[in-house]
Amino acid sequence: MTYNKCLLADYLSKAITKDRLFYKQKDFFEKNNINLILNKTVEKIDTQNNTIYFDYNSNNNQSLTYDYLFLGLGTNPIIPDVPGIKNLEKIFTFQTYEDILKISEFIKKYKKLSVTIIGTGLTGVECSDVLSGMNLDINLVSKHNRILANLIDQAGSKVLEALIKDKKVNLLKEEILAKIEANKKSKYLLTFQSGKQLETNIIIFAMGTKPNTELAEKSEIKVDKGILTNDYLQTNIHNIFAGGDVINTKDILTGKSTKSNTWPDAVNQGIIAASNMLGDKKVYPGVLATISSHVYNTTFVSCGPVTNPPEGCKIVIKKDSNFYHKYLIQNNILIGFLMVGKVDNVGKLRNDILNKTQSPYFY
Ligand SMILES: Cc1cc2nc3c(=O)[nH]c(=O)nc-3n(C[C@H](O)[C@H](O)[C@H](O)COP(=O)(O)OP(=O)(O)OC[C@H]3O[C@@H](n4cnc5c(N)ncnc54)[C@H](O)[C@@H]3O)c2cc1C
Repeated sequence: MTYNKCLLADYLSKAITKDRLFYKQKDFFEKNNINLILNKTVEKIDTQNNTIYFDYNSNNNQSLTYDYLFLGLGTNPIIPDVPGIKNLEKIFTFQTYEDILKISEFIKKYKKLSVTIIGTGLTGVECSDVLSGMNLDINLVSKHNRILANLIDQAGSKVLEALIKDKKVNLLKEEILAKIEANKKSKYLLTFQSGKQLETNIIIFAMGTKPNTELAEKSEIKVDKGILTNDYLQTNIHNIFAGGDVINTKDILTGKSTKSNTWPDAVNQGIIAASNMLGDKKVYPGVLATISSHVYNTTFVSCGPVTNPPEGCKIVIKKDSNFYHKYLIQNNILIGFLMVGKVDNVGKLRNDILNKTQSPYFY
């Protein structure tokens, strides 16, 4: 069934129930005349005969024909190919409902565990936050010199890193995993490229994801890291559309190709592609990357190129003991903002960016 991935950490911490996670129930699909097919993997698309095949190589081979096809295939987690990683039992990712079930089952079984989370993007930090409340020893490993390096600048990361320290999470920075060895105490010995070592009971990889493009590539659908789509979210095959994390889309500010990787963008792309498939033509304007989350009792929101401001853009910082704000202004127009701690006016500021509104407030 369909669930909201953004709420996986909340489900693991028991802050929300299963009903809230699985936000669309079976009757939604029945009422809307949608034939919901679960637990099937599409293995082949025959674009000449408009047919998709499930379990293509088995005797149970099934197919469906289509007039239009939408590909919302998402991403796969990245797991590093380091010596010793093959056939390990206690390694996990933090991407799906099944991952959460496996992690919570394992944690329940053992009293005192050490958990190492590798990756300090949004999922790694959210995962460490939830687990730090469960009486476990947590190591959080970043290859960067700060956490959330693609979303937050150095000063903003510092605010969150202080809170992580308060929760007794062991944060390791600028460390890259080099090998894993199973030792006698049924623990894993992790060795990093720097030579540093640590022992852990389980490893959770949160090192980012890559678009799940294999099916498209096999089917002559054009891919360049993600599935390529035009302004109508149509692929190079006229009756196949795509959206969500699997596509490359364009940055609304620069027009440059970028990855789509947020829930609201995926939803919006699904709606626009559906409209276009029904003949009601709508242009997809592109993404204004905006990510927000609540971790370690603090909210943050990152919008636009805050970690990589364009040359010549003016930067306005406002801060106090409990918040840090950064605004990026180009030609008197707001093009991005970062808020850590106190978060306000997000909708208005986003609209100012999208509408290219002059921002006298900052002068
Ligand atoms: C832990 C976590 C926290 C997140 N938090 C946030 C957040 O706070 N805010 C935010 O905006 N975004 C967040 N995201 C990102 C957000 O969840 C994604 O951007 C969104 O889910 C993308 O939707 P999608 O439909 O493109 O892909 P997905 O939700 O990944 O869905 C793709 C589906 O396609 C299925 N599939 C793939 N290949 C096949 C095949 N061959 N046959 C049949 N089915 C197939 C997959 O099994 C999957 O069910 C988070 C993600 C994670 C993992």
